[in-house]
Amino acid sequence: MRLVVDLNKCQGYAQCAFLAPDVFAMHGEESLIYNPRAEEEQRERVARAVAACPVQAITADGPDGSGGPATGSAREASDGR
Ligand code: SF4
Repeated sequence: MRLVVDLNKCQGYAQCAFLAPDVFAMHGEESLIYNPRAEEEQRERVARAVAACPVQAITADGPDGSGGPATGSAREASDGR
């Protein structure tokens, strides 16, 4: 599975490193290192890390398409003239 951490959002709370230590690790006080191609068997842990991240910095994707970000189609219906 693939995953991406938006390091601009990441605040180094280390929730992910606590929940999925084989995928995420803290390097020093604030910088996060992670495996962008985590093993399939890590999927459940990664899912927990995604859910636990306080700033939603983690995006996980998978070959089956589940777990990816919802691509909502917000269409503006603006023809009120
Ligand atoms: S849980 Fe989120 S904010 Fe905390 S270290 Fe992981 S990615 Fe960064």
